[in-house]
Amino acid sequence: MDPSERPMRIGVYICHCGLNIAATLDVEELRRFAETLPNVVVARDIQFTCSDAGQNTIKSDIAEFKLDAVVVAACSPRLHEPTFRRTITEAGLNQYMLEMANIREQCSWVHMDSPALATQKAKDLIAMAVAKASLLHPLETESVPVSRDVLVIGGGVAGISAALDLANAGLRVYLVERRPTIGGYMALLTDVFPTNDCSICVLAPKMAEVYANPMIKLMTYSEILAIEGTVGHFRVTGVTKPRYVDPTLCKGCINECSSVCPVEVPNDYDFNLGKRKAIYMAIPQSVPLVACIDTNACIGCGLCAEACPADAVKYDQQSEEFKLDVGAIIVATGWQPFDASRKEEYGFGRYRDVVTTLQIERMLNAAGPTRGDIVRPSTGEIARSVAFIQCVGSRDQTVGNPYCSRICCMASLKNAQLIKERYPDADVAIHYIDIRAGGEGYEEFYLRAQRLGINFIRGRVSSVEEGDDGLYVHYEDTLLGKTLMKRYDLVVLSIGLEANRDAEVVGNLLGLSRRPDRFFEIAHPKMRPVEAHIDGVFIAGCASGPKEIQVSIAQGSAAASKAMQLLFKGEIELDPTVAFVDRDKCIGCRLCVDTCPSRAISVKDTAFVDEARCKGCGTCAAACPVDAIEMRLFSDEQILAQIRAATAVKGEYPFIVGFLCNWCSYAGADLAGTSRIQYPTNIRIIRVMCAGRVDPSFVLEALRRGADGVLIAGCRIGECHYVSGNLHALQRAEVLRGLLKEIGIDPRRLKVAWCAASEGDILARKIEEFVDELRDLGPVGTELAAALPSGKV
Ligand code: SF4
Ligand code: SF4
Repeated sequence: MDPSERPMRIGVYICHCGLNIAATLDVEELRRFAETLPNVVVARDIQFTCSDAGQNTIKSDIAEFKLDAVVVAACSPRLHEPTFRRTITEAGLNQYMLEMANIREQCSWVHMDSPALATQKAKDLIAMAVAKASLLHPLETESVPVSRDVLVIGGGVAGISAALDLANAGLRVYLVERRPTIGGYMALLTDVFPTNDCSICVLAPKMAEVYANPMIKLMTYSEILAIEGTVGHFRVTGVTKPRYVDPTLCKGCINECSSVCPVEVPNDYDFNLGKRKAIYMAIPQSVPLVACIDTNACIGCGLCAEACPADAVKYDQQSEEFKLDVGAIIVATGWQPFDASRKEEYGFGRYRDVVTTLQIERMLNAAGPTRGDIVRPSTGEIARSVAFIQCVGSRDQTVGNPYCSRICCMASLKNAQLIKERYPDADVAIHYIDIRAGGEGYEEFYLRAQRLGINFIRGRVSSVEEGDDGLYVHYEDTLLGKTLMKRYDLVVLSIGLEANRDAEVVGNLLGLSRRPDRFFEIAHPKMRPVEAHIDGVFIAGCASGPKEIQVSIAQGSAAASKAMQLLFKGEIELDPTVAFVDRDKCIGCRLCVDTCPSRAISVKDTAFVDEARCKGCGTCAAACPVDAIEMRLFSDEQILAQIRAATAVKGEYPFIVGFLCNWCSYAGADLAGTSRIQYPTNIRIIRVMCAGRVDPSFVLEALRRGADGVLIAGCRIGECHYVSGNLHALQRAEVLRGLLKEIGIDPRRLKVAWCAASEGDILARKIEEFVDELRDLGPVGTELAAALPSGKV
C-alpha cells in the first residue's frame, strides 16, 4: 500500500532523563498509556533518549516498525528538537516528522510535589503530541546563497576581537563604531587586572591591526539607522557623521589645530576631569588618527583651518549614508557606567573630591589629565588618603540594579595597589560588602593587595560628607560590629556597569530581547552564550551583561566563529515552516498584508507569500477572515487536534489550555522548570511561534470542549520577536472577550500575559493567579459550551 494511503505509524519514546523525569512521573504508566493512542505502533521508555543508545533505539524502530513519525516525550524542544530531528533524518525520515512532548521543564520539574497530577498532565501532553504528529507532513528545505560579509556593531575590545578573527579567516567585515575612535573603555584604562599590563599597550596593536586589515572596512563616527531582511541577507542602512576634518588629508598631528583653538570644554574621554579643545583627538592612540570638531563647542572662528598644514579642516563636510548587505551581524555595543550622582548620599557631583572608578583610571593613566598623579581635584594636591566604596550602582535594588557588575572588586583592588605602589605611605581603604575575586589569579591578586597594606573594611558606607579639611565617610564595620566615621582626601566610587542606552536603537531594529537588567538576552545562558534569538545575529562582550576584558575578547572570537560556521557554507537552508496561501479561498482583502510584520505578503488579485521573507509567525493565518492562509507547521488542524487531545480527559479543575509563544513565554516556562519554580498542574501548554498565531477559533474550541480558561502568553509589549505579533494577539483578545460576553461566557476566562524568556517566575505566578481566578469563577458551564459555535470563526 502507498504509505500516504495507510494510517500513520508513530513511535513514542518516553525519557526517564535519569531521575529528572522518572522521580516525579510514572514513566511505566506513561508508556502503557502511549501504547493505547491512535496510530501508535510502538512505545518505549528509555533512560536517556538523547544518548547514542537512545537515538539508536529510535533509528532501529523507524526501520523495523516502518514509522512515519516519532514523538519524543522528554525535555524541551527548545533544547533537543535539533538532536532528534537529526536522529530521524539519519534513519531516513523527513526531519519535520518529529513532535516533542515537554514532560521535563514543563511537567516533572515544576510539579515535583504532585506526582499523580503531573503524570496525568504528562499523559495529556503525550496525547497532544501524538495528535499533532498524526497530522505532520514532510517538508522540503530550499537553499539560498548568502552574503559572506559581516557587520560588527561596536568597536570595543569584543568588536575588535570579532572583526579581526573574521577578517583573518577571509570574510569581509564592516566595523561600525559610534564614536570617533575604536577601543571602547579599555582604551581609557590604565593597567588591567590581574596581570597589571598597560591596557592601551596591549590594545593599541589590535586597534592598528583593524585599521590595516584590507578585509575590514572601519566606519567610525557612524550609526546604524535601519536593518531589514533576515539571516544571510540583512540590508543595513547607516550614516557616517561629519568630523569636519577630511580623514584622507588629516595627518593626526592635532597640536597644530588644537593649540590655536580658543575653545576649551570638559574632556569626555577623561570623564570630565581634564579639558580638551573644540577640535580634538579622542586619545593619542585613536584609530583612525583623525581629528574631529565638536560642533556643540565650535564657535566657527576658522583658526584651525588656517593652522592645519594639510588643509584637512572642511567645515562643509556632510554626513554620508551607507548601505550594506551582510549575512550576519555581531552586536558588540558594550556598556555604560552607572551615573554615580544617583547615589546622592555619596556626594558625587557635589563634592569635587568624590570621583568614580573611571576617573581614577584616567588619573592613574600617564596620558590622563594628571599625568599619572592621584590628586584631589579641589586643590590639585596629591591625595594621601583614599577610600574606595564598592557596589555603587550594583547589587542595589534602590537603583534598579540587583546584579553584580563582576569587575568592580577587581578594578578597585588593582587601582588601590597602583596607588600604594606609587605612594607607599598613602592610607588606602576599600569599603566592601564582600570581595568577589573568582577568576584565574584573582584570589592571589587579592592577597597581594592585603600584603601591600590596603585596609579592607567590610560593611556598607551610609554617606560621605565634605568637611573643611576633607571628606568624611560614615560607614558600618560589620566585622567590628561598629558604626564609624573616617576622614579621607579622596573618595573613589566603584561604579557598576549598566546596559548601554545608546544600543537600544540597534536592539529595537533587530528585535533583540532584553533581560530585566536591560542587557541583551542571549539564546541560552549556558549552551548558546553568544547567539541572539534571531538567526544570524550574535552578541559579544558587555552587550549581554558585565564581564571582564578576557571574557569579552573570548566572546568576540566565539561570535566570529559562529558567524563563520553560518557563512562559510555559502548558502543557508530556508526554514520551510512558513505560511502559504490557498488561492482558491483568498478574497484579496489585504488584511494579511497589513498584519504581516515581515512584509512578506503581496496581493495581486489573491495573496502571495514570499517564503524567503516569511518568518513563520503565523499572525497572518490568524488574521485571514476566510482561512486562506495556512502554516506548514503549526497548522490550524494540528493545533485544533492538540486542543482536542488536551481536553479529552480534563483530569482536573480548573482546566486551562495555554498558548505560549516559542521565544519568550514558552522559554519562560522552560526557565521556570530549570529553576524548579513550582506552579499548579492545571495548565496544558501548546507551543506556537508567536502569540499572534492564536486564532480566535482555538480559544473558542478550547472553551467549547470544556476548558475553564485559556491563557495566551507572548513576549512583553515592545519586545515581540516578530515586532508586532503580540499587539495583534492583544487586539484579537479584546474582540474575543466582547464576543464571549455576548454569548454569555465570562470574558475573564481568557487571560493574556506577557513575559520575557528570563521571567519564568512571572509566568509561574500568572498561572497561579489564573487558577485562583478560575476557581472563583467556577467551571465553565456545559450549557454555555453547547451554545458556542463549533469550528473556525
Ligand atoms: S573653527 Fe572651531 S574647531 Fe576650529 S579653531 Fe575655531 S573653534 Fe576651534
Ligand atoms: S487575509 Fe486572507 S483573504 Fe485576505 S488577502 Fe490575505 S490571504 Fe487573502
